[in-house]
Amino acid sequence: MNGAYKIATVAGIDIGVHYTWLFAFALITWTLAGSWFPSDYPDWGEATYWAAAAIAALLLFGSILVHELAHSLVAIARGMSVRSITLFIFGGVSNIGGDTRSARDEFQIAIVGPVSSLLLALAGFLALRAGVGGDDSPVEGILIYFTLANFLVGIFNLLPGFPLDGGRVLRSIIWASTGDNARATGIASGVGIGFGWLLVAAGVLTAITDDVMSGLWMGFVGWYLKDSATAVRRSSKRSITDVPVRAVMSLPERPVHPDVSISALVDEYMIPFERRSVPVVEDDRVVGIITLHDLDGINRNLWGETPVSEGMTGPPLVAVGPDDSLSIAFQLLARYNINQILVIKSDVLVGIIKRSSLLGMVVRERE
Ligand SMILES: [Zn+2]
Repeated sequence: MNGAYKIATVAGIDIGVHYTWLFAFALITWTLAGSWFPSDYPDWGEATYWAAAAIAALLLFGSILVHELAHSLVAIARGMSVRSITLFIFGGVSNIGGDTRSARDEFQIAIVGPVSSLLLALAGFLALRAGVGGDDSPVEGILIYFTLANFLVGIFNLLPGFPLDGGRVLRSIIWASTGDNARATGIASGVGIGFGWLLVAAGVLTAITDDVMSGLWMGFVGWYLKDSATAVRRSSKRSITDVPVRAVMSLPERPVHPDVSISALVDEYMIPFERRSVPVVEDDRVVGIITLHDLDGINRNLWGETPVSEGMTGPPLVAVGPDDSLSIAFQLLARYNINQILVIKSDVLVGIIKRSSLLGMVVRERE
């Protein structure tokens, strides 16, 4: 993150603080010293309010660091690399390299964050129960804030919308049950966008009816969530066309030799298999493709004596390589208004891409 300053390195992970963190620190300290502590502890004195508020704010950020470290350490244990953790105005982000390899890894990496926040809350709660600090002491006040804040951080992060941890948990569950990573991302980010807007609306309502500062804060957090979820959604959309052709092509069906007659082509290659197109291959090299559409132009009485080579399309061929991106295939389908594209590697037919299967993919993605 630009504008972040490295403050430490833990387990090989750079810990950074973004300058926006200072606003959050100032706001939390100001809120605690100005109203939270004075209303619960009227006897403390001004200096105590500010000292306790600053300590409580630092402890909250320490807790968020623990939360992020939990994500990062599990990610490292699952074989991923973690470059850095950055604390910023809305919390923390772990910069985890690469995509998770399995739904199970994703689930574990995501769930451990809220779990550690809730454990910190539990620890605070138990300390309070044991009477740590004593009645009405600053230590008690700080502990109550610590417990509540960690509880809220844990619960908030469990909301099932991307990019919150709960959204990642939801994504991993959909991913595991459907096997469809992109679809899981689409759903989880859609829920995230919904939560983001809800929070914006709740923030506006709070700002109007109750507390302007809290309302604004909620609104900004909601806006941030909505933007992050939208970015994730967009990148998952983009990935569909970044997919290499080989990942979605069908294996080539039986080709026909260019010397075969049109009537043999229709009777032996097309009708029995309900095929609408057949690649034409000679000596292992692709020389063309022949489709039902091509047959329209040939007098039916001449089918017996016309070879495939006279009716076929190509050369030149409309073709892609197996490592080309799917976006190239999309462009060719649209430009030539055709229903299939041959996938060719060094003149050898290695697959075929059909318009119908691409459309199926796009429709699934949009749902
Ligand atoms: Zn988290």
